[in-house]
Amino acid sequence: MASTRGEHVLIAGAGPTGLCLAGELALAGVRCTVVERRTHRSRESRALGLQARTMELLDQRGLADTVLARGNVVPRLRVSVVDSPLDLGRLPSRYRHVTVLPQGETEEVLEARARELGVTIERGVTLTGCTQEGDEVVCRLESGDRRWEERAAWVVGCDGAKSRVREAMGVGFAGETYPFPIVVADVRLGAPPPEGLLVQVGRAGAVVCVAFGDGWHRVALVDPAGRWSERPVELGELRTALTGFFGRDLAPGEPRWTSRFRLHERQATAYRRGRVLLAGDAAHVHSPLGGQGLNLGLADAVNLGWKLAAVARGTLPESLLDTYEEERYPVAAGVIAATDRATRLLTSGAPPARLARWAGLSAVTGVPALHRRAVRQFSGLAVAYRGAADPHSPRGTAGHRVPDLSVRTASGADEHLHRALRAGRFVLLDQGEGDPVELPAPWDGLTTVVRGRIGAAEGPWPRCEAVLVRPDGYCAWAGPRERAAAAVAALSRRWGAAPTGAPKAAGD
Ligand SMILES: Cc1cc2nc3c(=O)[nH]c(=O)nc-3n(C[C@H](O)[C@H](O)[C@H](O)COP(=O)(O)OP(=O)(O)OC[C@H]3O[C@@H](n4cnc5c(N)ncnc54)[C@H](O)[C@@H]3O)c2cc1C
Repeated sequence: MASTRGEHVLIAGAGPTGLCLAGELALAGVRCTVVERRTHRSRESRALGLQARTMELLDQRGLADTVLARGNVVPRLRVSVVDSPLDLGRLPSRYRHVTVLPQGETEEVLEARARELGVTIERGVTLTGCTQEGDEVVCRLESGDRRWEERAAWVVGCDGAKSRVREAMGVGFAGETYPFPIVVADVRLGAPPPEGLLVQVGRAGAVVCVAFGDGWHRVALVDPAGRWSERPVELGELRTALTGFFGRDLAPGEPRWTSRFRLHERQATAYRRGRVLLAGDAAHVHSPLGGQGLNLGLADAVNLGWKLAAVARGTLPESLLDTYEEERYPVAAGVIAATDRATRLLTSGAPPARLARWAGLSAVTGVPALHRRAVRQFSGLAVAYRGAADPHSPRGTAGHRVPDLSVRTASGADEHLHRALRAGRFVLLDQGEGDPVELPAPWDGLTTVVRGRIGAAEGPWPRCEAVLVRPDGYCAWAGPRERAAAAVAALSRRWGAAPTGAPKAAGD
């Protein structure tokens, strides 16, 4: 007989995606439990680059300063075959750099926040399967010799590339595996390259070299002639390969983490089946050369968090959840395609490909418009949700990221959008005069209203009388304030039904 935990969400996997999602749900008052098969947090360094948009998402929850204090800031990316770097210094964001932090430390920050908000994290517990039964999902769990079942209202598989949840959903993981392995190592370099983030290209293949800022470096070698092997990465092998690429000895030593793994590019054919959903690596994997994996997972979690919370609490209709896949699937598909192009370009030794590589990189680093586009894509700032576009909102608003606008309030104080978003609610920025805007239920209970003048900012925002910002920092609607009530009613209709009334108490 399965025990039940009432109206709650069970998350499989305490990686960055699962921990971030748990924090989002708890912030919105939804009870959730994370089950994690490992008994301790992974000490693998794995992902290490947090892009500008990810830092903004973390700032929207008050976590960016903690991450920044621990990380190393790298403002440009140099590719050895061209003279100019990709310069992140002019990004329209407070975070005009990549923040370099080992994955374990990012997880530590996310776990501390989830626990503070009351999330239960059960380590040493594996989810072996799940089946939907009516309005519940029966989860099969295992810990050592113990096996049991539990019921949850919703299950999210954040259980990585080999997701059991995906398997239980009967969802495919379409894509391919590259024919060569990648070798990664975190080492001290006695004679490091001067750049903090460098792609050193060879005749065929490349090395990505990233500085942690404390003498340690991540080196990732992609060699298309490399054969798959189960043997551990040896320092001698690493040193020889690096010397081959750089033409000098970088003197690597003290390896603290090494790995040899296969590169896959795959995407789940669906992100949702009824009450079971997927996020992060469980939904998509790709070449790590673009440094996007963890960033995509966190953005999935922030997109899904407020939607699932609103549906689980009965505040907004269930069909809102369909917008999760509509919005996030194309973003991951785009990253898979872009990182695949980059990987193939870097690993081809044929003269036409080398010429194309040089010409392409010269254009991207040398032509201002192409450079601007490339750094916005790399940093995640270019992501916009087309499905969230609204014909009644000015161009470039609905579905687009809203930057950290400053708002001068009537008292003369400056409020910032990111600070207002920390409660995980919608924020209505209202620049109009007169009586406050009255929003109908349930929007009045879901929204924080900030009144005042929007300060100078890139884009259309200062010219919009009212801007409704979703809890994930994307614009839901913008326009004249007298249309705000009609606009939120239209949003409710677009999301599938009339609003379902007052929120349930947490854990009802
Ligand atoms: C060797 C390696 C190097 C990488 N390097 C980079 C990089 O440099 N840059 C980059 O951006 N990305 C990199 N990545 C990818 C990046 O680490 C992932 O994109 C990121 O970890 C995804 O987070 P996640 O939470 O979705 O999944 P994971 O981090 O995989 O977390 C999944 C969690 O679920 C747990 N779990 C699995 N199955 C179950 C189950 N059945 N029940 C309960 N718990 C379960 C796992 O133990 C794990 O803790 C690398 C990946 C690997 C493997």
